[in-house]
Amino acid sequence: MFRRTRTTEPARSAEALRLVKVRKVYGSAGNAVTALDDVSLSLPAGSFTAVMGPSGSGKSTLLQCAAGLDRPDSGLVMVDGAEMTGGSEAALTKFRRRRIGFVFQQYNLLPTLTVAQNTTLPLKLAGRHVDRARAGEILAQVGLGDRLGHRPDQLSGGQRQRVAIARALVTEPAVIFADEPTGALDTRSARDVLGLLQRTVRVHGGTVVMVTHDPVAASYADSVLFLADGRLAGRLTAPTVDAVAERLAHLGDAVDHGANPAHHGGANPARHDLTAGV
Ligand code: ADP
Repeated sequence: MFRRTRTTEPARSAEALRLVKVRKVYGSAGNAVTALDDVSLSLPAGSFTAVMGPSGSGKSTLLQCAAGLDRPDSGLVMVDGAEMTGGSEAALTKFRRRRIGFVFQQYNLLPTLTVAQNTTLPLKLAGRHVDRARAGEILAQVGLGDRLGHRPDQLSGGQRQRVAIARALVTEPAVIFADEPTGALDTRSARDVLGLLQRTVRVHGGTVVMVTHDPVAASYADSVLFLADGRLAGRLTAPTVDAVAERLAHLGDAVDHGANPAHHGGANPARHDLTAGV
């Protein structure tokens, strides 16, 4: 799915994502909340990173700013060696459509489109050639090669999320951002989806950044970044479930175990229209 020979894109930068002093403040004066407090980080291409932290620590804001769905108040976001911050709204949208893929908790598939049409929608929106054979190829890789003509409501939650992953992969993005991708799934479907994200990185050389509150999900990543109060509060490489859970516990007693699912699942659809992340 990331075969470079198929496209005319230039070679990939070794650094998939860089944030330099990214700052985001909501509200003003008396009731200002610093959601991101000068966050800097660098993620190499071909890495799978989980982002964790207590509720309100800035995970969603980090993802929104890093993925170009929202703009930081200051600081720099570089994706695949190119600066994303700055420029017009139209330029940002174009940049996002070319270089970034999204997977959301609630799938965000368009109900009137078939599985194949949902998968190729990002190509269409980017004005690129829509190759139906390619949709079939990618859907086969996520185990849905026999469902091209189905509608989302004819699929299980796990299958819908696999379509969302196929849709995220179709443009061969530099980074795929996943926001609680297993939050609405049963254990087995969650495992399938996490395995797929892992394969995207290990087999196909993609880069995945995943916000999650679940230590099991985080253990599929190569490393975990912890956030607290809008700042990076540590990093764990080769994470195990126990090590992640322990680190989270030490971040404070406000550790989020999904007590407020509406916040997690609602973050993206509530703030953005359905095709913003396509
Ligand atoms: P997390 O995803 O870790 O739960 P968020 O990034 O959603 O954290 O939020 C970080 C902080 O910013 C929180 O204090 C939250 O209340 C605040 N915040 C997030 N979005 C908004 C918004 N649109 N308006 C005002 N405050 C916000």
